[in-house]
Amino acid sequence: MTAQELKEKLSEDDIRKLLAEMGATFYYEDDDMWITDTICHHGTKPKLYYYKDSESFHCYTECGQMDIIGVVMGYKGYEQEEFQKAINWICIKLNIDNCEYGFGKQEQISDWEFIRKYRRTAKKEIETKPLIPYDKSILRIFQKLYTQDWIKEGISIETMEKYNIMYSTWQQKIIIPHFDINNQLIGVRGRSLVDEDIDLFGKYTPFKVGRRFYNHSLGQNLFGLNHNMKTIQTKRKIMLVEAEKSVFQTDTMFGEDNFTVALCGSNLTDYQRGLILMLGVREVIIALDKQYQTLDSEECKKWAKHIKDKIIDKLSAYVVVTVLWDSNDLLDYKDSPTDKGKETLLRLMDQKIYVGTNN
Ligand SMILES: [Zn+2]
Repeated sequence: MTAQELKEKLSEDDIRKLLAEMGATFYYEDDDMWITDTICHHGTKPKLYYYKDSESFHCYTECGQMDIIGVVMGYKGYEQEEFQKAINWICIKLNIDNCEYGFGKQEQISDWEFIRKYRRTAKKEIETKPLIPYDKSILRIFQKLYTQDWIKEGISIETMEKYNIMYSTWQQKIIIPHFDINNQLIGVRGRSLVDEDIDLFGKYTPFKVGRRFYNHSLGQNLFGLNHNMKTIQTKRKIMLVEAEKSVFQTDTMFGEDNFTVALCGSNLTDYQRGLILMLGVREVIIALDKQYQTLDSEECKKWAKHIKDKIIDKLSAYVVVTVLWDSNDLLDYKDSPTDKGKETLLRLMDQKIYVGTNN
């Protein structure tokens, strides 16, 4: 049996059974989707979405889009080449007969065809597929209400207006539209204000209206570039932050002089790197959240390594890279360098660390 044949055999119940086998907890389900914890990488957050329509999974933490075989491979720690082990595992768990892999030449050939396809869709094509813009009129269903929470956190109403921030009263979420460099609407994210939701689903979730998801590949954009490109090109520097909120805070601090964009995560994708290099900047300032309690902790070492592997090493051959590193305890745990106001941010910038340029 080939992977394709196996997938065609699987019913919704089978998928559910397999997820349960992997110890998944179902946090949410409706007619269109399920949300479980991220068993694909042994994570605990409910950020693995299953879309019934397309029979595909999306891990919003790190794995991206995949099918059920991909989920099993992640769960079992199989390499891409070992996908037949995942097929066997599924067959055993569901008592599907005659699926022992490797007998018969015909089957083998078709499975190798499959893996070539699988690899391409899993790695490259998804990332570079052009995003189809959404109709901006969707934003009309939201209200122009500005939450006091954000004003307290240093985001002005002016900034919220500039970035088209809205509010959804029925979902109790702040609505953050994502525009690309050409001001096309390419996605909408909701930031929950309900604590239970935050605990369950994380702060940011893809937004759903009716049956349609307004999610997009966040790695295929730099949030805020549509507003800040001119300054970035004039100053020839760019500051990378994790979340949209930091872009809003720096907009309130610096206005037209803002050169900040958000990665919407803590990795730099190849696509984002391409955008940065295209801008012709000389310096990239990395200003991610403080993901460590103390400087001498294991957590801190791990975080530094992550930033080096996922961002610095991808850029240092081309531009000067500097990092904002909170050596003087100016920030609290998990704060963004922009969270404590302009003065603190400027102090961090004064003490930025040069981490390398290879030219
Ligand atoms: Zn995952």
